[in-house]
Amino acid sequence: MGELKSLYIHVPFCQGKCHYCSFYSLAGHEDYIDSWLDALDIEAARYYRDSKIALRTLYVGGGTPSVLSLTQWQKLIHIITKYFSLDELQEATSEANPNSLTHDLIKFLEANYFTRLSLGVQSLNDSELRTLGRLHDSRLALNAMELVRASRLTLSCDLIFAVPGQTLRTWADSLKKVIEVAEHVSTYQLTLEPETPLASKYDNEDLNESGYKFYRYAQYYLPLKNFTQYEISNFAPEKKECLHNLAYWSHDEVIALGPSAVSYINNERIKNPSSLQEYFYLAKNNFPDELLPHERLTPHERAIELAILKLRTKWGINRSDLLPEVERIISQLPEDLFIITPERIALSKRGMRLGNSIWSEIIDL
Ligand code: SF4
Repeated sequence: MGELKSLYIHVPFCQGKCHYCSFYSLAGHEDYIDSWLDALDIEAARYYRDSKIALRTLYVGGGTPSVLSLTQWQKLIHIITKYFSLDELQEATSEANPNSLTHDLIKFLEANYFTRLSLGVQSLNDSELRTLGRLHDSRLALNAMELVRASRLTLSCDLIFAVPGQTLRTWADSLKKVIEVAEHVSTYQLTLEPETPLASKYDNEDLNESGYKFYRYAQYYLPLKNFTQYEISNFAPEKKECLHNLAYWSHDEVIALGPSAVSYINNERIKNPSSLQEYFYLAKNNFPDELLPHERLTPHERAIELAILKLRTKWGINRSDLLPEVERIISQLPEDLFIITPERIALSKRGMRLGNSIWSEIIDL
């Protein structure tokens, strides 16, 4: 059976397209969901050899998993349990959006292995939500948060900072209200990806400049409320960290299904096409290996990636796992970016703020 693995499923459907979104998802194409599930069944079957692969974590993301009907959710669970064993599952998360999350879906998730729900709140300020092109307002988000709070699921909320028009006061207000209910918070700086509606109106440099103060505030405020920064973008009380994401940051094996999903198995990265039609074509042909781009990592590339991934977390990296050339670069950077002990190296709070600049020094070694 081998080591326990993580499974990610990408649901490529949304009710509308947010103004900043560059994820692969189709708006208003719910009529394709059943065909996507049929294709997913064929893709998942590839991982069944003589027995089911045992999972430690499961994550259903997207896109918007809460656009699936309960019948479609039943079909999804059936596919997962047909090919994977959930006997040793430690965590299962579904993403959801406030406008499509229902009480019935929460009940269904609770009754079917799920332990966490990650809600795309993004802001609790209506004007910011409109700028972002979200389909919900703050009232709907608060209602959805309360629905999850009344269940056994651990609630995680995503929040975006550096939204045009955002102030420290509105950011502080969103953070405060979210942690009154949630047990995990992910904070992301708004990034303007090319060809998104917001990219034609605003400038990334301006957002970067304003982003710094919002991030600093989150780093100051959340730990006061017992939400430790355990990764560059993630805060939670101890033992509420997301195990699935920890698997990514430890470079553990992740099987990823669905259009645009990226697996990491046997030291190879395999990327599915970011196109539902191409995905259907692959399914019709039983996902021939030669049509899927495989990228094999050399031991050196893997060690560099591992250093970057582990340095993202508060635990940092064991110095015995660190390439000497990475350690040399770190020793040449300002000391206050790191917390260095005889055994480990981790980023300081300031280092977490400047993560991207640090990676750019390491990535091409
Ligand atoms: S809900 Fe998420 S995946 Fe869907 S369009 Fe908005 S940002 Fe993109």
